[in-house]
Amino acid sequence: MATVEPRPRPEGAGDDPGSPALVVHDPRTGAEIGRVPDQGADAVAAAVAAARVAFGPWGSLPFAARAERLLVVRDRMLDRIDEMTATIVAETGKVAEEALVHEIAIVADTIGYYARHGEKALRPQRARTGMLVHKQGMRLHQPRGVIGVISPWNYPFMLAMSPVVTALAAGSTVVLKPSEVTPLTGLLLGELFRSDVAGEAGGPGDPMAGAVQVVTGAGPTGEALVRSGVDLVCFTGSTATGRRVMAAAADSLTPVLLELGGKDPMIVCADADIHRAAAGAVWGAFQNAGQACVSVERVYVEQAVYDDFVDHVVEETRALRQGGSPGADVGAITFPPQLEVVERHLVDAQAKGARVLTGGRRVPGRAGQWFEPTVLVDVDHDMVVMRDETFGPVLPIMAVRDVEEAVALANDSEYGLAASVWTADGAKAAELARRVQAGQVCVNDVATAFGVADLPLGGVKRSGIGRLHGLQALRDLSAEKSVLVDRLGLARELWWYPLPKLLAPLTRAGLVLRYRRGLVAKLAGLRRRSRPL
Ligand code: NAD
Repeated sequence: MATVEPRPRPEGAGDDPGSPALVVHDPRTGAEIGRVPDQGADAVAAAVAAARVAFGPWGSLPFAARAERLLVVRDRMLDRIDEMTATIVAETGKVAEEALVHEIAIVADTIGYYARHGEKALRPQRARTGMLVHKQGMRLHQPRGVIGVISPWNYPFMLAMSPVVTALAAGSTVVLKPSEVTPLTGLLLGELFRSDVAGEAGGPGDPMAGAVQVVTGAGPTGEALVRSGVDLVCFTGSTATGRRVMAAAADSLTPVLLELGGKDPMIVCADADIHRAAAGAVWGAFQNAGQACVSVERVYVEQAVYDDFVDHVVEETRALRQGGSPGADVGAITFPPQLEVVERHLVDAQAKGARVLTGGRRVPGRAGQWFEPTVLVDVDHDMVVMRDETFGPVLPIMAVRDVEEAVALANDSEYGLAASVWTADGAKAAELARRVQAGQVCVNDVATAFGVADLPLGGVKRSGIGRLHGLQALRDLSAEKSVLVDRLGLARELWWYPLPKLLAPLTRAGLVLRYRRGLVAKLAGLRRRSRPL
């Protein structure tokens, strides 16, 4: 994590001397691990200009050549896998397994997915032209230009790489503003797209040179990027900041894709495999020390299995090993203010009658930022912990009468990012997955859909606008263009000047004959039958 500290700017940092720098600390120990410039609007403007220059060669590359370069980026990432893992771990305090499985593995798979399947998503598509039978319609998906990517600190590599790779695959270039809490990972990410060697991908003269620009800084730097005239902003972060991003983008009508917060519900039916559901709840809630957007933020369990479920959850939670050394399951809290959010939610819940069954406090006597995995019961929707995003290692569990009550409570939220439903009955699972208001639902699993490149990711309600992942994201990050071609070459069209006298009566008669359902049958005195269109 990082703090902003006024100090002379490092040589070559670009902005005014004397402006602040971001000081990065290891959340596991509190030790300083690096400093990067807190760049401002000038650096953003320069990065956008450079990305615009790079867009010329990159945007005109055929898809296969772009894909090949993205595969080189993946090779570089894998060649530096230990360095990547160590940087992510040092900056976030997560355990190495999480950096590898939730970040690097997902990025490796996403690059392969777009390299393999992207071309067909971006191919020109023929469009139907309806009654204009002498026309041909085409839909093109062209590169947009420069895409601004603003990323959060909880998965600093994966959540930055995913939109960066998608934008590049779609032919745009990128300016990335990583979270000020985890800028070192963002800078390392930028290196994967560059080379000093002519003839290499991203090297001098190569079309990928300059295609990914990284600007480090805090909120104002992000806002400068939103206002910089980029062709689209892809933002991942909190709902509160997402609102500010959308408002700033409105001034220039810059399109936005927003991946925002969640309050992900888990519904456990009485017929579920309770061992598996409990293990899933514990992993879902405490992965990344609870700092996951797609997770388990609240659980609703049918009364009949509530006690059994809670017992298993508590047992599993008490067995977790927390720490910064190999062998630990649960890591540190990346962003210090998050500790206060967690404590505030727990204080509010306990004041209103909730009970902590295990955890409930900062890890005593340990340097750095640590909070014990916490299981909370006797909760209800009057408590902040059941309504606001906690984003920490807290698992509140509530007993419900039946599935109907569970669905009603799951949907009683301003968020709609992800959810999970647990039942042995396939038909019930399908019905629940349909009824829960969320962008992603896992059945007898949790959060794993996030790691599937072909499954779109995004929220409903206050959890976001638009989708990442999937082939549709490639199209959404492209500029769609409709092309219509005349195939007959008549001297003029019927509806051009001078308007023919017969145009109105002919159109009228044609419309009625073509579209009025049942007319022909009626005229023929037959029984009316409806046609679908
Ligand atoms: P945040 O909103 O505080 O910051 C996100 C990014 O926005 C940072 O880079 C920050 O510098 C930048 N920023 C801040 N103010 C800005 C402004 N006015 N204009 C432009 N940019 C600005 O979020 P965070 O604390 O880094 O991340 C945690 C949040 O992100 C949680 O709410 C979590 O649920 C959400 N999140 C969502 C997803 C998803 O896929 N939907 C994924 C991960 C995290």
